[in-house]
Amino acid sequence: MSELFSVKMRASAQGEHVSGAERIVPEGEVARTISSLADRALHHAKGRPDFINLKLEKPGDILELDALPVATETVSTPEEGWDLIGRLLASEGFRRADEIRSLFKETYRMRGAMLLHADTLERLEPDPERGVRATYMDQAGPVPYATQKSHFREALVLATKVSSAPGIVGEICMSDDPDYVTGYVATKNLGYRRITVLKQKGDPAGGRIFLYRGRKRDVQKTIRFLERQAVLVRGVPVDRPVDVWTQLRSELDALKSASLERTVKAANPSAKIFAANDYLGLAKTFGGSTGSRLLTGTTPAHLALERELARFKGAEAALLYATGYMANVGLISALAGKEDVIFSDALNHASIIDGCRLSGARVVIYDHLDLADLDAKLAIYPGRRRFVVSDGVFSMDGDLLPLPGFLAVCKRHGAFSIVDEAHANGVIGKTGRGLAEHFGCDAPDATVGTLSKAFGAEGGFVTGRQLLIDYLVNRSRSFIFSTAPSVPSVETALKSVRHLASRPSLVAKLWRNVRYFAELLQARGIKVEPQSAIFPIFVGDEAAALRKSAELASRGFVASAIRHPTVPRGEARIRIAISALHTKADLRRLARSL
Ligand SMILES: *Cc1c(COP(=O)(O)O)cnc(C)c1O
Repeated sequence: MSELFSVKMRASAQGEHVSGAERIVPEGEVARTISSLADRALHHAKGRPDFINLKLEKPGDILELDALPVATETVSTPEEGWDLIGRLLASEGFRRADEIRSLFKETYRMRGAMLLHADTLERLEPDPERGVRATYMDQAGPVPYATQKSHFREALVLATKVSSAPGIVGEICMSDDPDYVTGYVATKNLGYRRITVLKQKGDPAGGRIFLYRGRKRDVQKTIRFLERQAVLVRGVPVDRPVDVWTQLRSELDALKSASLERTVKAANPSAKIFAANDYLGLAKTFGGSTGSRLLTGTTPAHLALERELARFKGAEAALLYATGYMANVGLISALAGKEDVIFSDALNHASIIDGCRLSGARVVIYDHLDLADLDAKLAIYPGRRRFVVSDGVFSMDGDLLPLPGFLAVCKRHGAFSIVDEAHANGVIGKTGRGLAEHFGCDAPDATVGTLSKAFGAEGGFVTGRQLLIDYLVNRSRSFIFSTAPSVPSVETALKSVRHLASRPSLVAKLWRNVRYFAELLQARGIKVEPQSAIFPIFVGDEAAALRKSAELASRGFVASAIRHPTVPRGEARIRIAISALHTKADLRRLARSL
């Protein structure tokens, strides 16, 4: 066995403690552990620290202990939880259980634990402000999720160490994390009794009591054990990553069995509608959609468009949103939550960024199109569930995601893949069906699209397995709580999707223009390698880009100057988007003007 090291992290802001953690790891894990603890300190829910202390040292002899047995006691209120603690302590022969309970409040201000004589209730900690701190401990063996705090695993390690300290006969603990309401009471005999509710959510109070029984003069030995003896705890249960599909299935099953599952159906046209928001009847007159898809907003046209989009993308199912922006926000925030991690390309579209933010998940940005960086980050940022999200064609530079490599990295790490094909549909692949067609590979787990680009209409959509779509119908807030696209809009899109599906020659025509324009630019010494219909013409200086764009406008061309913050400072460019509508003469004139 290689040598073990103790790594400790403490973080504070303006002198106030923010977070702390420790590990005991083999030498080969030291560097990675330091980096993950630093990372954890920097991203703590309590705020950003201004001081982080990372300490690396060799602990003394290491004692190996078996984890206390664990049992969970489910209660529904803090009162029930504390009553249960009182009863459990009484059953263990603590005669003054109620008084011990009421002393617990005094621990809230302390950094460490109160060391209390179980019978005399005398406080034995040398410094009552600071309390006694149990430290130098970890679970034995690899920790699967080093960057993710597990209250339970860390508490079980601590409780196991504390319970084997000389003279300690019991412990009570409640976390000071406002979001974590579960606490425990532990004795050698009871084991570790998890009590599901000890406080209200949002309450920052927390503390510990160590109960001592023995001679006062032996208390020093107990404190030395708690504060200095290195301990590795064997047999700590490992929480496994959750498979996204399994989770979607079980959530839907739970909704179904509680009669809470929602499905989209078109309203019967002959029924008298008493569920719409069409207060004046104008929607009926002018073709508005009258309500959310789950109420009255679904028409046969909506369902037909979804079927057509699924067929176009070769997917089991599709779900329509009002816009592509809403599709990204609704998809990502429905899937990912607080305990999850999303890996997002540095140049992803704003709607992806907003979806990530709204999800509450930890977001890890990887370098643009850098699959090695993604791979490395997936290896060191574990989470309950992991999602990777990327543009398929990047909207500013038109560069293409190498989908097969991307999917291989996701698969290797068990991560769920999401690709936004807003600029890929109708452009990439022989018949415009996107990246999977172009590369001849599988589709991502979820694909986002818009109807507002190559399809020339408006609306957004998600395609994927039926299970994904059923889940979104029940959980995607921008789908559920917003009005359905109107019938004329849906009918336009439906015609357009059918049109493109039956005329792949349109895509070929676009690509003839793309290649022709690329040749014209190359002939003028402008280096371009078009991967899509978007050409970024690099200018550099912001003012020069604006002048260039104005000059083009004066010659009758509309081409935007893309500047900071869309692209980094000093990397301004003119963004040219080619269409099948452009004539060769148009392209020649534009190339000359550039
Ligand atoms: C345009 C775009 C969107 C937004 O689509 P809308 O339908 O216009 O809301 C989303 N993602 C990407 C990558 C885009 O380029």
